[in-house]
Amino acid sequence: MVQKTRSHVVDGRAHIVCPKCGKGMYGKVNKKTKSRSIVRCSACSGKFEVQLDYRQQYRKSASFAGNGTCARIGSFPVTIENMSKTGVRFQVCKRKCNLHIGETVSLRFQLDDRNCSDIQVSVKICNSNGTMYGGVFMEEYLSVKVNKAIGFWLL
Ligand SMILES: [Zn+2]
Repeated sequence: MVQKTRSHVVDGRAHIVCPKCGKGMYGKVNKKTKSRSIVRCSACSGKFEVQLDYRQQYRKSASFAGNGTCARIGSFPVTIENMSKTGVRFQVCKRKCNLHIGETVSLRFQLDDRNCSDIQVSVKICNSNGTMYGGVFMEEYLSVKVNKAIGFWLL
């Protein structure tokens, strides 16, 4: 039997996690893409079925000062503008800090929930607009605790 997995489509990109080996990958999606398709993992060659989910994720506005880190630039201050279950939009303060699409950035900030939950997430940059960036959570690095805290915060 073929294993199945769901993928949320964000800005025309499907973030897929192989159910067999956990490798994360991206697929480009357009209107002609079937909502169900069989995908072969580039890492383990396993085949599985992906169900694409186009529902717009609820985004909650925020204004959290935090810190971003990426291997190429190092550490830089960020402001979290909004967040959904699948990703985050953030602003960088300096113009020269230009992140690339597809680059991995680690973000650290605190939620304004009762516990002031410390959030550390890895995101893949999926779009940019000036100093504003959109990043998709890399689910394979998302801890259960962080996922839960974000889930509660979104309620
Ligand atoms: Zn795999």
